Amino acid sequence: MKHLPLFHDITQSRWLIVGGGIVAGRRAQLILSAGGQFDLVALAASDSIVAHCQQCDGVVSIRAWQPSDLNGDYQFVIAATDDAEVNRQIAEQCKSKHIAVNVATDASLCDFTFPATIDRDPLTIAVSSGTASPILARLLSERIDALVPAGYGELARLVKKFRPKVRAAIESGAQRKHFWEKVLLGGVAENVFSGKMEAAEQLLEETLRQPDEQLKHGEVYLIGAGPGDPDLLTFRAFRLLQQADVVLYDRLVSKNILQQVNQNAELVYVGKQRSHHSVPQPSINQRLLDFALNGKRVARLKGGDPFIFGRGGEEIELLAEHRIPFQVVPGITAASGCASYSGIPLTHRDHAQSVRFVTGQLQDGTVDLPWEDLVSDNQTLVIYMGLNGLPVIAKQLIAHGLSPDTPAALIEQGTTVSQKVYTASLSDLPSLIEKQTIAPPTLMIIGSVVSLHKTLHWFEPPTDNEDSAPSIGHR
Ligand code: SAH
Repeated sequence: MKHLPLFHDITQSRWLIVGGGIVAGRRAQLILSAGGQFDLVALAASDSIVAHCQQCDGVVSIRAWQPSDLNGDYQFVIAATDDAEVNRQIAEQCKSKHIAVNVATDASLCDFTFPATIDRDPLTIAVSSGTASPILARLLSERIDALVPAGYGELARLVKKFRPKVRAAIESGAQRKHFWEKVLLGGVAENVFSGKMEAAEQLLEETLRQPDEQLKHGEVYLIGAGPGDPDLLTFRAFRLLQQADVVLYDRLVSKNILQQVNQNAELVYVGKQRSHHSVPQPSINQRLLDFALNGKRVARLKGGDPFIFGRGGEEIELLAEHRIPFQVVPGITAASGCASYSGIPLTHRDHAQSVRFVTGQLQDGTVDLPWEDLVSDNQTLVIYMGLNGLPVIAKQLIAHGLSPDTPAALIEQGTTVSQKVYTASLSDLPSLIEKQTIAPPTLMIIGSVVSLHKTLHWFEPPTDNEDSAPSIGHR
């Protein structure tokens, strides 16, 4: 490590900025935001840097730099003129006077550099590439930025406020550490991240009053994993997967998504097959409860959205009964994911003003649906779990008045790299599908919006023979 990261209190330091362009302006803004004070010497200066300088009572001198400028008792100097020779001279003079210098255009002359920063005041994350590549440092910091909840600053302020109380209430250092770890990964933090500051404080107070009672239980996150593409996980889903001790998942959760789980977590398969459930629902509910009662942070990963044909409600009922803290993280449901990835808008001004999600599961060879409601015009129908029932569904819809020519699509393994899209008229779709080897999961979209697939499909150019041949699109 060539550069030691230090977080410097600059409220008492004096800075000199030489140069008045864009780079100087950025530095000026940073100094100002950290409560510093600077003077400015520049041949020409932007209005904003002049304003910044005046804001911190600095002196603005519009003229050429001269060595005597360094007599002003400065601790830091920034050389950001557009003349490399001038910058070099400034650096040389600074070194002889033991003043720390930063030269914006020449890393080799710098005593210190400005890292890419992520500001969650009072928390600050700084990323430096040494002097190798500031752009790489910035790209990395943008990735970290996306992962750190905006509420971390609030959380840090809350901790600061409670630290004296906690110190007074819990004597042992080890127990205090345990307390804070639980609090910072548990309901208190989650409340802060959701903007519920009052609830967070209340919970923290309660936890402090009865730490043993409050901290002995774990909690459950019911997480919607989206339809397959791991990029469709929400930030919150990703964050909770990183902190879970146990993850329960089923067949709809793709391998790529499981790779986002932290490596120390125990993975428990509670697979669900199309026609049978390998672990019965009540026993999944019970397992969630048991893990939580044993103090574990449990993530229950569900395909799509937990509250859309996901039995998510049932899984949390038992937890609520036992007062186990839980939260539900919405996911992108298969309808949205498959529609977007296959270029079929679910609603469209000219085609459909409403959309219905229905389950098309076969029971005793038939599908029980309110057919009259499903055949109205200007409506898109999305059918989950409908592959086996497709012939019955198509027949019933047509019998109840939907045109046999209504465009229909079957999307196989939507949003994954194996996605395929089959389109045909409603009357032809069942026979077309019968001839294919289809790998679940699949989703059907029925309605005139499906005709837009030809023009809006993401990767594939439209083909000439769309009417006769199925469009089999790969993502
Ligand atoms: N909670 C889930 C739905 C669970 S029901 C959600 O919100 O998406 C399971 C059905 O969802 C499957 O039978 C299939 O119809 C549909 N489904 C889920 N993922 C899918 C995918 N990647 N591609 C196509 N259909 C999918």
